[in-house]
Amino acid sequence: MFDTVLIANRGEIALRVQRACKALGLRTVAVFSEADRDLPHVALADAAVCIGPAPASRSYLDQAAILFAARASGAGAIHPGYGFLSENAGFAARVEEAGLVFIGPRPGSIRLMGDKIAAKRAMREAGVPCVPGGEEALSGDAAEARRAAAAIGYPVILKAAGGGGGRGMRVVTGEAGLADALAVTREEARRAFGDGTVYVEKFLGGPRHVEIQVIADAQGGALWLGSRDCSLQRRHQKVVEEAPAPGLAPDLVARIGAACVEACRRIGYRGVGTFEFLVEDGAFHFIEMNTRLQVEHPVTEMTAGLDLVQLQLRVAMGDSLPIGQGDIACRGHAIECRINAEDPVSFAPSPGLVTAWSAPGGPGIRVDTHVAAGYRMPAHYDSLLAKLVVHGDSRAEALARLRVALAEMRVGGISTNLDLHRRIVADPAFIAGGVDIHHLERLMAAG
Ligand code: ADP
Repeated sequence: MFDTVLIANRGEIALRVQRACKALGLRTVAVFSEADRDLPHVALADAAVCIGPAPASRSYLDQAAILFAARASGAGAIHPGYGFLSENAGFAARVEEAGLVFIGPRPGSIRLMGDKIAAKRAMREAGVPCVPGGEEALSGDAAEARRAAAAIGYPVILKAAGGGGGRGMRVVTGEAGLADALAVTREEARRAFGDGTVYVEKFLGGPRHVEIQVIADAQGGALWLGSRDCSLQRRHQKVVEEAPAPGLAPDLVARIGAACVEACRRIGYRGVGTFEFLVEDGAFHFIEMNTRLQVEHPVTEMTAGLDLVQLQLRVAMGDSLPIGQGDIACRGHAIECRINAEDPVSFAPSPGLVTAWSAPGGPGIRVDTHVAAGYRMPAHYDSLLAKLVVHGDSRAEALARLRVALAEMRVGGISTNLDLHRRIVADPAFIAGGVDIHHLERLMAAG
């Protein structure tokens, strides 16, 4: 169906995707910005095309340049990685119109899940439990919003239907603040996402972030591959992820997983995807679906013993899923630390020359990275340097290996969040497992 894949991304994920392509015998085409000539996957690709200057808007987000590179290099498919164009339904449609395969869901699925109100409606219909509220868009009329919020019960959260990246949300604790918050959130949503549609749902005070990984083929086959816990967040950005989510009843997780699979079948979903939930008092509440490969997919790979990107490529080639739900088991425990180039106090990005780089190793250790000594971290992109992923037979073993790995790891020349990770793995609450989404910020505030 295709024998050459263009990888429309950079950094560790471009390398990750390239490895999976090569293992399946596929040719690869790297596209890169002028700031990224020296990335390892560019040197290792079968062909490489410069698509523009450093700013992402003029390179990795330039749809015409990427499509031109695909045509010029004979690529038959485009893998978008995560971020950039990965959840852009218009781009997915243009790829298909150009006669190429988009390695991801159908454009209609991306569009449906990009509208959080429509997504929640589809999930409710499939029997997936959702956060109370959010059935309809708010018109902007304050009296109507007051009725909707009162029916849900305060505190509530106003959210942009087209929101993403943790922006376009506002918590409202009582009726007095509702009208102003509604006006501000609508305006913010209009400016940030080009769509002022806002809805209101119940605000959960201390939930965990738990997600379910799925994969579906074009023939209607769909599987869930286990749970992940990504509660350790700073400003809604994930810092540490693990699989499985600790301390949840396996039969409850299995029920939610089965509901996610049913939802995939109903909407004709194809490819990999993630259903995100807030879990409070043992109850799951769907918040959104990510219609792409996620940064944290390695923890699922390590516990399920699968190569998710290879499966994603095979499904895109039109293959049926080669395994059934009964073949999937969760073995041991995996934890991922996102090692970022950032100032440990201000959290501002810390680009520059990496003068020294020493990555950990040993049993159960995996480091997904594009960085080595001599690498110059550009200021134009996100600050992810590496994903340190560990696996153990138990959570305790994974934690023990992670502590050793973090102690070994050395990065010179730029600032990183390695010390924050060392603190997290020594934190008694994290060690116990099951902390909520505010835990990391509380830990950092404690000094
Ligand atoms: P985005 O698409 O911007 O990532 P999400 O809907 O996934 O938005 O929400 C991002 C984060 O915001 C969640 O992980 C959670 O921390 C917080 N959040 C969202 N909805 C709620 C809610 N109803 N109650 C409490 N926190 C919420």
